[in-house]
Amino acid sequence: MSGFWTWEQKELARPTTKQEVIEAGLAYLEGVGADLICKVCIPGGGSCCVSCPFLGDGVGCGRRNTSCTAWLCGFLKFIYYEAGLIREWEDFWDEVPGQHFRYDTTPRHFVVRSWLEPPQLRFLCEAFADDLRQLRRDRPASWLVELKGKLDWHIDEILDSTNPKFVKRMEAKLYRLTIDFQRYHRAKAQLN
Ligand code: SF4
Ligand code: SF4
Repeated sequence: MSGFWTWEQKELARPTTKQEVIEAGLAYLEGVGADLICKVCIPGGGSCCVSCPFLGDGVGCGRRNTSCTAWLCGFLKFIYYEAGLIREWEDFWDEVPGQHFRYDTTPRHFVVRSWLEPPQLRFLCEAFADDLRQLRRDRPASWLVELKGKLDWHIDEILDSTNPKFVKRMEAKLYRLTIDFQRYHRAKAQLN
């Protein structure tokens, strides 16, 4: 988070709490439909919580924190990117201090200058999750995890680039990686 705020940014300052930003993040993830992809990913061996000491058997996360709420895996990064949400998401979480790997030192009270309003895009993740569930049946066991990693890598390359031609090339690769996700591509067409 930048320590320097312009006068306009000070005008936009919004006092908040750690609990409130976590709830805003979870509401946003629900609006995107992230849980629908997780339900396919976890049985497919792709869970991002594997081996975490805070993961309780049958109860899930026992230490919900700002870091894990803000973090996006390759599948979610892809959906956020395609839906035009990723900058908004990243900009918001850049304002939240104290994020670490699987825990946070986020203060109880702090100030942000933007806010997250949950989108209504569950249909997009629903279509992606349906494709993922079906495609994984005919693919090697490692396919799901590998695809997740490739999507993650390509989106990071795009986000780090200022070269429009390079971005176009990466987007074409993303399309090839997901070409068999037919329900998803039909659902995405509804966004345009
Ligand atoms: S890696 Fe992504 S899709 Fe899989 S369980 Fe974690 S958040 Fe859900
Ligand atoms: S702390 Fe993070 S990685 Fe661990 S169980 Fe909770 S959400 Fe999963």
